[in-house]
Amino acid sequence: MSSISIWKDKAEETSFVPLRTDITVDVAIVGGGITGLTAAHILSKAGKKVAVLEAGKIGEGATGSSTGNLYCTIGSPGLHNLKSKFNEQKIKEVVQSRAAAVDFIETVITDLSIQCDFKRVPWTLFAESEAGKSFVEKERKAAEEAGLTVTRNFAIPINVETGFTVKRQAQFNPLEYVKALSKKIQSPNCSIYELTKVDDVTEGEPCTVSTAGGKVTASQVIMATHSPKGIYAVHMNMGPYREYAVGVTLNGNYPADGVWWDMLAQEHYSMRTYETSKGKILMVLGEIHKVGQKDNNHECYNNLERFLRERYDVKSVEFKWSAQQFKAADGIPYIGLSSGNSKTYIATGFSADGLTYGTLASMIISDQILGKENKWAKTYDASRITPLASAKDFIKENVNVAFEFVKDRFTKNEAGEFSEVAAGQGKVMEVDGKKCGVHRDSTGKLHVVSAVCTHMGCINHWNEVEQSWDCPCHGSRFSIDGEVLEGPAYTALKKVMV
Ligand SMILES: Cc1cc2nc3c(=O)[nH]c(=O)nc-3n(C[C@H](O)[C@H](O)[C@H](O)COP(=O)(O)OP(=O)(O)OC[C@H]3O[C@@H](n4cnc5c(N)ncnc54)[C@H](O)[C@@H]3O)c2cc1C
Repeated sequence: MSSISIWKDKAEETSFVPLRTDITVDVAIVGGGITGLTAAHILSKAGKKVAVLEAGKIGEGATGSSTGNLYCTIGSPGLHNLKSKFNEQKIKEVVQSRAAAVDFIETVITDLSIQCDFKRVPWTLFAESEAGKSFVEKERKAAEEAGLTVTRNFAIPINVETGFTVKRQAQFNPLEYVKALSKKIQSPNCSIYELTKVDDVTEGEPCTVSTAGGKVTASQVIMATHSPKGIYAVHMNMGPYREYAVGVTLNGNYPADGVWWDMLAQEHYSMRTYETSKGKILMVLGEIHKVGQKDNNHECYNNLERFLRERYDVKSVEFKWSAQQFKAADGIPYIGLSSGNSKTYIATGFSADGLTYGTLASMIISDQILGKENKWAKTYDASRITPLASAKDFIKENVNVAFEFVKDRFTKNEAGEFSEVAAGQGKVMEVDGKKCGVHRDSTGKLHVVSAVCTHMGCINHWNEVEQSWDCPCHGSRFSIDGEVLEGPAYTALKKVMV
């Protein structure tokens, strides 16, 4: 089964032409996901001339592979953990600002008449057993302390040991939303380019944004690329993680409409339903691991499928896909001017809560560009230093990066000869004295690229499920022929002729 997200089933294609000339705008927006498109909408409506430059197709990054849930609570690290890192005031700010972002999305949908199956639904966090009980109880207390009213709604055919519900959260088709938004906002003030990969951003007065088809001159740049491209201090403060999704049809009862988070021992699995051309689908998302650090990642799909089969009468498996998230060391996204920059705005570290955070980021950054006060800007300040709140995760992530960087230079190659790489496999081996990633496709053809990530020099690892080369340090991912798929790297891997 190919790895295509459920949202593509309904979302209409977009067909914006690539950039083919030099242009001048007020704000260049790199990336056409929910963050980039929302910023383009706000800024162009306020009279700024903007250009959105999207390497692929609108919405087909993390936005189009998410679960499509909108809520004012958070998944990672959980409100109670955020409270212990900061204080009660911080979780109030997070919850209020996220609620404002969900309301903002609803207003955009109404104002622009966007069809994307938006509906208000309850959000429920529950545990089936002792394993997740303590997390859920702590989270309930923190939700109340943050000012939320919690109730109980367990209309799900699963044994619920403990849990709580927050009403009036929301769900939509995130891909339909951004694709429709892009079509509605295109105007002389808002130009949108697809298949337009940004190769470099040079900050200055003005800033220069380079693409193969033309140069964009702009007063300000927004890096709405999920993780900012190039080298930024925040890369040291974030961990890149991959997560998986399985969508099935059922013979029996489906859970009621809503966001359903089942807290297991280590993480929560997220469930929701959606009507597709293949019938009503129950999807489950979870099985998080660090990018490039799981050997048999088919296991992730298998675990999700087993979870569903143990609880439901599964008729057929219809969708499987995976996506990336970046976790901030102190648990709060980085939004605004990065340290050392005066014109380049970043929006990153959203964990798996970024449809709301991405929208909030565009609201904050747009205010900053328009010279307006934003009451949440300080909470998410991208140049903040929070040594106490960040320490544990900062050390954990950077020890892990250092370990991966050094380990791969000294460990044995995965193959000595090309013949040891079977069809469908990818292995790191030495070719002419250099570490290379060698993949054999289903026709038997070899694809050989440098194994060294072009971002900061770590050795990429083979991703069996997605047939890609993934960097275990900062989450850059490359195709079998070396093109950048996602993450902070700008440059493709060098192809090696054999
Ligand atoms: C499995 C999973 C489920 C999730 N579910 C939810 C959920 O239910 N609710 C929620 O709130 N959040 C969820 N998230 C998180 C959410 O999907 C993301 O945080 C959010 O979509 C990020 O949006 P974005 O616009 O910042 O990034 P993206 O949507 O990734 O957009 C970035 C765009 O930048 C483009 N780009 C990259 N490099 C370049 C370049 N060099 N030049 C031009 N363009 C470039 C990419 O092609 C991409 O389209 C989930 C995440 C995962 C992993």
